[in-house]
Amino acid sequence: MDSLPCQGCKGLCCGPVPITEQDFKRIRIKVKSMPAKTRLALEKQPRHYGTCIFYDLNQDKCGIHSARPEICRAFGYYQSLVCFRKPELAAKKNWLPADKPIGTLSIDITWKSF
Ligand code: SF4
Ligand code: SF4
Repeated sequence: MDSLPCQGCKGLCCGPVPITEQDFKRIRIKVKSMPAKTRLALEKQPRHYGTCIFYDLNQDKCGIHSARPEICRAFGYYQSLVCFRKPELAAKKNWLPADKPIGTLSIDITWKSF
């Protein structure tokens, strides 16, 4: 699969996203496996209001990449989740979550939830 030109975006599209129970569980395992120092450093990064709580500004990438929510994995590849930097990649029909969302990451699900 062709990839998105994410480097340099600094989390441009990483705002609040709906997550499912499965997403939550996967992220919790990831967060709990982080060394305390790494977790704290990521948690305390100064982000713009609205930027995802897991965006790693220092590395310019998702701080929980291997455990990121399904919607983040789908972003850019579906007609309902278009990346304006490479819209031609959004060729798949509408994306739907596998399950009902339990909340919105960064808004009602925060670092404290993990
Ligand atoms: S998906 Fe698009 S907007 Fe988001 S970081 Fe990647 S290139 Fe940038
Ligand atoms: S979980 Fe990762 S990929 Fe998803 S919005 Fe947050 S920083 Fe971006």
